[in-house]
Order: sequence, then C-alpha cells, then structure tokens
Amino acid sequence: HGDSRDFDEEVKSVCPFCGVGCQVSLKVKDGKVKYVEGIDGPANEGRLCVKGRFGFDYIHHPHRLTKPLIRLPDAPKGLNVDPANPFTHFREASWDEALDFAATGLAKLRDERGGKAVAGFGSAKCSNEEAYLFQRFIREGFGHNNVDHCTRLCHASSVAALMENVGSGAVTATFNEIENADVAIVIGSNPTENHPVAATYFKQFAKRGGKLIVMDPRGTALQRHAAHMLQFRPGADVSMLNAIMSVIVEEGLYDEAYVEKFTENWEDEKAHLAGYTPEKMEGICGIPADTLRAVARAFANAKAGMIFWGMGVSQHIHGTDNARCLISLALMTGNVGKPGAGLHPLRGQNNVQGASDAGLIPMFLPDYQSVTEDSIRGHFNAVWGSDKYTDGEKGLTVTEILDAVHAGQIRGMYILGENPAMSDPDVTHARQALASLDHLVVQDIFLTETANYADVVLPAAAFYEKSGTVTNTNRQVQMGRPAVPPPGEAREDWAITVDLARRVGLDWTFTDPSQVFAEMKQGMKSLDNITWDRLQSEGAVTYPSLSPEDPGQPIVFADGFPRKDGRARFAPAEVIQPAEQPDADYPMIMTTGRQLEHWHTGSMTRRSKVLDAVEPQANCSLHPSTLRRLGVDPGGKVKLQTRRGEITLLARADRAVAPDMVFVPFAYVEAAANILTNPALDPYGKIPEFKFAAVRVVAA
Ligand code: SF4
Repeated sequence: HGDSRDFDEEVKSVCPFCGVGCQVSLKVKDGKVKYVEGIDGPANEGRLCVKGRFGFDYIHHPHRLTKPLIRLPDAPKGLNVDPANPFTHFREASWDEALDFAATGLAKLRDERGGKAVAGFGSAKCSNEEAYLFQRFIREGFGHNNVDHCTRLCHASSVAALMENVGSGAVTATFNEIENADVAIVIGSNPTENHPVAATYFKQFAKRGGKLIVMDPRGTALQRHAAHMLQFRPGADVSMLNAIMSVIVEEGLYDEAYVEKFTENWEDEKAHLAGYTPEKMEGICGIPADTLRAVARAFANAKAGMIFWGMGVSQHIHGTDNARCLISLALMTGNVGKPGAGLHPLRGQNNVQGASDAGLIPMFLPDYQSVTEDSIRGHFNAVWGSDKYTDGEKGLTVTEILDAVHAGQIRGMYILGENPAMSDPDVTHARQALASLDHLVVQDIFLTETANYADVVLPAAAFYEKSGTVTNTNRQVQMGRPAVPPPGEAREDWAITVDLARRVGLDWTFTDPSQVFAEMKQGMKSLDNITWDRLQSEGAVTYPSLSPEDPGQPIVFADGFPRKDGRARFAPAEVIQPAEQPDADYPMIMTTGRQLEHWHTGSMTRRSKVLDAVEPQANCSLHPSTLRRLGVDPGGKVKLQTRRGEITLLARADRAVAPDMVFVPFAYVEAAANILTNPALDPYGKIPEFKFAAVRVVAA
C-alpha cells in the first residue's frame, strides 16, 4: 500500500463500517485517500480488518452523487433503471432549487394533511450530531415521533430487554474487558466476519487459557478457539438458555449475595426455570443435556464472565426474550459491574449506539428519555426554543412506517443514509411503499436502491469528508475528521438538514457541528464531562465520564442499576417458536447475515475495488450434503423461494451450515435476500425475524 513517503497529509479519524470503532490514520495525497492504517484507538490498539484497511475507496467512486437531482416528470420510480446510466430518470438542479423542492413538498403535506403525513428514517452511518438534528427535524418540524433508523433492524430487541431489566440500553462493559474474564459466551454472533477486530481480542482470550463458549446454529470460525461449541437448532435459544440457567439453580451455583443485593423477581425466575431441565430441553434445542450442564457449570463457577451477542439473538420474534435470558444468566452469576464481567450486545453500525443515544428512535428522546413524559418533551421544546413538538405518543418504527405508507397515512418521507429498498424484510412490500409516496426526499452519497424511488436526491459527504462524533459499541465517543473534501457540490449531512429545517419553518442557526454537540449536552447527561474540545484533543472519551479528566468508565453498574431501588430485574422467558415453520412446501430454514468483505446493503463495499474483487457475486451457503441432494455442484446456481418471492444465486458448499439450512448474505441487489425474509416482528423491540424463514431450495 505504498510507503511512508507516499502521502502529503495524515488525518486521524474512525473507521466508517462496524461498531467496533477502530481509529484510523488516513494517508492523503492530491486530494485523495491513498491508504489507511490502524492507530492506537481505545477499541483497536492499531488493528484493522480488511474493510477498514482496504474498503475506503468507495468515497472516490465515479458514481458518487455530486449534484442535487430532481426526478424528471413522469419518470418511473424503482430499480428498473439502466445500471450503466443510473441517472437517466433525474435532472441536475441547483442546491437552492432542490432544497426548496424537497422542503416545500414535505411542508405542504404537513400543512394540508397534518404533521403525521411525513415520517423520517435517519442513519446510524451519520454522526451523533447529524442523528440528533434529524430526530429534531421530525419532532420539531412535524410535531411527532415517527422517526427511526436501522437500529430497528439490528439490536432493538436487545435494547428493549436491557432497558426493561437493567435500566440502560448500552453495554455494561467494553469488549476489551474480556482480557480480565475467565469465561466468555459468544452467542448469535459471527465476530470474525462482523466485528473482526473485536474477534482478535476474543481469540487472544482463548489463547491465554480463557474458556470461550460459542453458541450458534451456524458454525463460525471462532469455534476453533472454543472450549464448547453449541450448534443449537435455529430459533431454540430460549430453551437452551433456560436449560443452562435451570442447572445453575438446581445445583445452587448462583451468586446468592449478588442476587439478594442487586436484583428483583428472583423467586419467579427460579420457579419458572424448574420446568426447563436440560433433559427436557435437549430434544428441543438439539444440545445434549450433559453439554448444557457442563456449560452451566463452566460459566457459573468462573470468577468473571462476559456475554457477547449479535443479530442471531436479536433478529427473532422472540429476540427480546433471548436477550432477557442472557441478562438473567449474567445477573444470577453476579457477572455485571466488575472486571472481566458484563453484558455486551455487539453493535453493528459504526454509530448505531450514538444514533440511538441521540434520540433517533420513535419511543425515546436523547438519552432514552421517554417521549410520553410531558416534562421531558417540555425540556426539549425549551432547549429548542419551540412549542411545536407536541405529540406524546410513541412513534412508529421502521417497518410500521412503511405499513402506514401502504395504508395511505404517511405520504411523504425524508430518508437520510438508509436503504430500506434493500434492508427491510419482505423488501418488495417496502419498495411498493416507497414507490407510492407523494414526496420522497433521499439524502445519500450514492444513488442507492432507495434513491431510485426519490423525487429529489440530495448529495451528501461521506464520513471521511466530514467532522462529527460517533459512538462505538464500547460507549466510546470518538472524533471523526475530514481528510478530503466532498466531491462536486456534495455537502455534509448536518448542513443539508439545517437548510431543510429552515425551509420548513424552523429557526435553526447552526453553522458548525460543534454547536450541535453543545446543544446535545443540554439534554444528555451521558455526555457530562465530554466536550468537543476534549474529543478533538483526546480522540475518544468513554461515557459515563466522571470528571473533565476521566477518560470514562469501561465498566458500569458496580453499585447497582439505574432502576427503582438500584435493582436489575429477572424477566422469565417462555419458548416461542419462530413465526414461520418449515412445511412440505417450504421445507428448509433460511437465515441471513453479512460477509466479511461486504457491508450491509453493499452501497459502500460493492463500490470498493478490493472488497468487491474478493466477493463479487451474490451467493448463498449450503451444506455439501444438501448440494448433493439437490444435484448442484459447488459454484452452481440455486433458486430460493419463500412465500414472499424468489431469488437465484450461486451456491457455496459450507459444512458450517446445517443440512436443513441456507445462509444468504444480504448485500447483493441482483439477488436481494430480503425479497425472501419474513416481516413478522418481535412485539417489544419491533425487530423483524431476519434469522428464520421457511424456504424451498431447488437447482436453477
Ligand atoms: Fe472497521 Fe469494524 Fe473492521 Fe474495525 S473491525 S476496521 S471498525 S469494519
């Protein structure tokens, strides 16, 4: 990648991909990022994965949006545009014309049909300041809470369970704390692909003798380092976890003093677990009773244990129950609030923690303050110098918003940096909703699949082209800095939102993201002692930070929880089957996820030369025996069909996938996995069941 003389300038920033939040040094020459190196950030200590190291060049891709675009009259909406000439259905416009057009359309719907005719999707790819401004734009500009972002598709159920039972949605300990643990559970997570730098710490933990317990229906590379690999039946998480906890109760392995001092509802939990012995559950979860007992003893007898989880836990209709079980397991063993212990949902997007903290969710204002409390809404109205944010009803979530579009209740949307035309479950339904809107404003760096449905497209700066803070999975607030200017007339997201806000009648005067950060501090105690200047000079501060000198607390809740009487709560969980069971027509199970080289809907990584060269084609993974049964050679084509639609793609042989399963990455528009996925929702987190759908697989 060149040598140290091969650049003019070096800029420190944060990787824009995953929630690990690796700090990077961007080597810049002639206005372009030439290469990237890891630096000594608190989460990565110099390490980077392939995405952080080689996936930066999408920012210089020729398809970047460089001018505002307005849809041509009568141009069809949708994906059927010429891929070689994606801009056919738009004309270029000046910023003034595009902003006027965008804002007038939204304001007209508000004024004629009421504020709830307009909803917004913000983005976990933007900075904290941009997420904050986006939720303020909808709440102040349109008076209600119908604003959400992709946390809904990711860890919403984990946050629901954590808020309910621990009183806080963030991790209780950084992932780096694993170095002080004796045992660690990694469940429903494939960190070597999805949080690769975090995975290096997990491997080091195992190499120095830590007991790693991996639980996943699909085999993972991490299992090579594991003391126990529990490849349980898809969707059987609750039965397996309840069985493990029942052993801890039955054999008296729980931490009685901790339970007595810091928890509530223990008697109910104990009574509930009595019905879940390993001998009863082994037939349901597919893990032998002896193994369940061994794992229970290993976790409960360790001095300190951590629990890490990912989308495999959260993306189920019982995702909140899955997370409730993990919380209960940590509580009964006293594994919260001390070194080497804790609950850690590995956050996906680079700023999904920060965007959620900043209030980009329909039920909470910044810092998870309830939208239903008059006094809290009053506080934000006062901070905003406004009386326009009036609605005390919890807003609609991502999928509910698109349902409301179908129902004709929502007629206009402002979508910033999200790609629901690829990311939503049953994406045909989502695309139909987008096509039916009267007015769609999309702000992005590329003409994404979603932008193909827009009436107006506003060209935005990529992360390496702007200033702003982001918060990683470890609660570390970090400073992102611009290394190169945005291409053409593209502008920073916060500045575009400010201009739109002024045009829908809001008195916004921000001229710099530092001013937004200062306003956020007026409503977010989590940012106490963290200032823009500190972040500029220190690069990162973990919240909570207890003083202007404190780098922040890696472990929280040593002295109790932010709940009534300082006690966390046991929430017994019943077994709920996945919403769609395999049957004679659709006999196999489909699950979706990411691959190491591609990020989410592919808008960035499929435009990154190195990453796209490694994984250029839509593919799925099947067990070799399944391929033999289908008469398909590895590398041949298969057709996947569910009750929602069908896709055709290449088949890869993979022994890690059970014979009755197919794993489908969701980054490929030419065979979009979400055409197939089930939109059934977890009732608490409102997260779709991306991890389980009944599917038919045939040779194509
Ligand atoms: Fe970027 Fe995540 Fe890879 Fe770190 S682990 S370099 S944050 S994608």
